[in-house]
Amino acid sequence: MYRPRIKAKHRPVRLGDGSVRIGGTVPGIERRIKDPDGWVWALLGTLDGTRTVDQVVTELVHRFPGRPEAEVIRDLGVLIQAGHVEDAAEAAPRELSSRERERYSRCRELSEWMARVGRRSSWESELLLRQARVVVIGIGGTGSIAALNLAQSGVGELHCVEPDVVELSNLPRQALFTERDLGQPKVEAAVRELRARNSDIRITGEALTITGPAAMLALAARFDVVVLAADQPAEIQTWTNRACHATGTAWVHAGYHGPQINYGLYRPGTGPCYECVATAERDHHTGSTYPEPMVAREEIQAGNAVSAGMSGALAAHTAMDLITSVPGLPVNREYAFNLVTLVGDVVSALETPRPDCPTCCVYWLGFASRRDRL
Ligand SMILES: [Zn+2]
Repeated sequence: MYRPRIKAKHRPVRLGDGSVRIGGTVPGIERRIKDPDGWVWALLGTLDGTRTVDQVVTELVHRFPGRPEAEVIRDLGVLIQAGHVEDAAEAAPRELSSRERERYSRCRELSEWMARVGRRSSWESELLLRQARVVVIGIGGTGSIAALNLAQSGVGELHCVEPDVVELSNLPRQALFTERDLGQPKVEAAVRELRARNSDIRITGEALTITGPAAMLALAARFDVVVLAADQPAEIQTWTNRACHATGTAWVHAGYHGPQINYGLYRPGTGPCYECVATAERDHHTGSTYPEPMVAREEIQAGNAVSAGMSGALAAHTAMDLITSVPGLPVNREYAFNLVTLVGDVVSALETPRPDCPTCCVYWLGFASRRDRL
């Protein structure tokens, strides 16, 4: 970093109790620092992008003679590592064209705002997204918005997997399709629409029906992130979990159960897997008042543009977090957002893999699990 400058959205404010707030007012980003002697405020005041690091240190040592130079450097480092500081002398990255920099300029502002660690470049998120290869499995309500958001955000290679054709009952919640597409393969309509939204990235698709773990394994091996936006067949989440565990591929899933959006994100080898978490959740409900319907009846999927849109947007957000580490979401757990109460929460999390988990603890499909390889 050559000329450190506090990010505009993190502008510090001095509070009445003598402390300093930095990072704005958004929970999760804002931070309060006690500052009884005015040292923090003075340090922040020098970080306006007009001084080099050496000039900042020299000036502060002169103004605070009792404070060792090493302490000044340490405190400056803390602010940089916490993501509050950018480099005012940063050059535009050569990897991004001027057209791309213009296109993603607002995305860059948001990712910089949300970044909670120091980064090499203010364009780091956009550079990482541009290098990423993502497959979206299932282009229905969730997958349409997930794929759209990922294409809009500049994921470099986006692949869509969906075997069905567009039906009239899809249109209220599946945002990539129009009345003109009725009866047409969804994947063709989706790829056409996504390419119209962003021609700077590579978008492909295939009308593949996933009928077993081998097909999922082949997809997981080709991509950096798997976005599972399909819930059929019933084993598809387990297949995805095992395929991604075997290949070390990060993955997310998202969907909706009526008004509740359910989603989760996983980095294989860094903690419990989806099956660990799902088994723990089932155990939690065993013997409790977990409801069972009295009469089985055919269910019609309930969903509209809002439930599908929220689900798809959260799938894209979590996938982008896995690629960019912004904002740095806790992984290997399940989340929910409730459209009735407008409350979101972690619904299931474990600290460590379960010893009885077949995916974390045994070989599968001829691959050693990532845990075994480490
Ligand atoms: Zn597991």
